[in-house]
Amino acid sequence: MSIFSKPNRGFLLNVDRNPILHGILKKTFYEQFCAGENGGETKATIKELKDMGFRGVIMTYAKETVFDHSTNMEQGLGVAALKSENKGQELDPSLARCANIEAWRKGTMETVEQLEDGDYLAVKLTGAGPTVTKAFSAGELPPQQMLDALDEMCTRCKERKVRILVDAESQHFQWGIHRVTLNLMRRYNRDGYALVYNSYQAYLKSTFDTLSKHLAAAQEDGFTLGLKLVRGAYMASDKRSLIHDTKTDTDNAYNTIAQGALKQTIGEFGVSKPFPSTNLFLASHNRESVMDAHQLHKQRLAAGLPTVPVGFAQLHGMSDEVSFSLLALKGKDGTPEVYKCSTWGGMGECLAYLLRRAIENRDAVLRTSDEYNALKSEFRRRIRALFSLSA
Ligand SMILES: Cc1cc2nc3c(=O)[nH]c(=O)nc-3n(C[C@H](O)[C@H](O)[C@H](O)COP(=O)(O)OP(=O)(O)OC[C@H]3O[C@@H](n4cnc5c(N)ncnc54)[C@H](O)[C@@H]3O)c2cc1C
Repeated sequence: MSIFSKPNRGFLLNVDRNPILHGILKKTFYEQFCAGENGGETKATIKELKDMGFRGVIMTYAKETVFDHSTNMEQGLGVAALKSENKGQELDPSLARCANIEAWRKGTMETVEQLEDGDYLAVKLTGAGPTVTKAFSAGELPPQQMLDALDEMCTRCKERKVRILVDAESQHFQWGIHRVTLNLMRRYNRDGYALVYNSYQAYLKSTFDTLSKHLAAAQEDGFTLGLKLVRGAYMASDKRSLIHDTKTDTDNAYNTIAQGALKQTIGEFGVSKPFPSTNLFLASHNRESVMDAHQLHKQRLAAGLPTVPVGFAQLHGMSDEVSFSLLALKGKDGTPEVYKCSTWGGMGECLAYLLRRAIENRDAVLRTSDEYNALKSEFRRRIRALFSLSA
């Protein structure tokens, strides 16, 4: 996967040009983790997931840029100029419109149109290319064309009752991403719920402080904080010193924030200061984290104690055992609300995403004993059922 991800690959190693390589990857990696290369394939996958009982889907368009701290370089996989339909039409230079931002806007708006009431759109802002990543690297806001595209996305999502999860990305870009997302939350999360969620990476030592600042902003400016919590997926490329020293520290940070939000007590919020309106989204494959959070949420609802709305999500193609265990607990009130998160886009555009999934599945080895035991007991149950039928 890392070889295929390198820029300027020759014909043989180019997943979009070599049909044999494309075919093999599509059937092995791509279909396991991604929704489709076009609208038709993507809609079919969404339907399949909803038919399995998920509350909805989280869909993302694959374009992104990863910053590798070790090489100090951006890997702009799939960042391409606006093509096909604009063949023969020059972009008006007087408008100075950036083709990469326009391509990102188009892909994002196309994704919104595939979604329905209750679904989520996930966005990777670095997919809009170098002018945007340059601004993010400096911790600045992106060009006005990107801000306009984000406003268009929020307005359309609100009309279609689709919510937005802004992904957390490489640390190099993350301060700029936080700034943009905080502005969007301030503007659009005014109706007592979060239209826009910011993502917080629990593996970063700085996350507790960042979250505290954002809770303070939500409290002072009177908007709902959209809190999507993840552990963090950029260990292979981000600066190691910024990340907690051990997995246990990351787990503790994740569970402290998740449970704190559900109890409406994080740092001084909920103690000496009021806890601001917050919507929580727990994106994790860690069985213990999600089950404990769901139990706590249920207990607090039953006891009439204050809590926050919460959704759960796992990635498409991963940890189905966790997703279905949660679904099996679904009560009359419709909780827990469980989602599958998928990605669509051409094979080349999806390579960075697929590469992260490959790396992540090394961590998943730690979880496989749980899944293996669950499969073994289900196999035994079916064999027993078969024999009792034939007896
Ligand atoms: C729906 C969904 C959306 C996501 N969106 C994003 C996103 O926007 N941005 C993003 O960055 N990631 C995102 N992720 C990926 C996520 O950050 C994790 O990489 C992935 O889910 C694995 O963590 P886990 O909570 O599932 O559980 P686990 O498998 O229990 O945890 C693995 C994680 O623990 C951390 N870890 C592992 N070893 C160490 C160590 N030695 N020291 C410190 N920490 C360690 C790493 O974060 C690693 O990914 C998303 C995941 C899901 C399910």
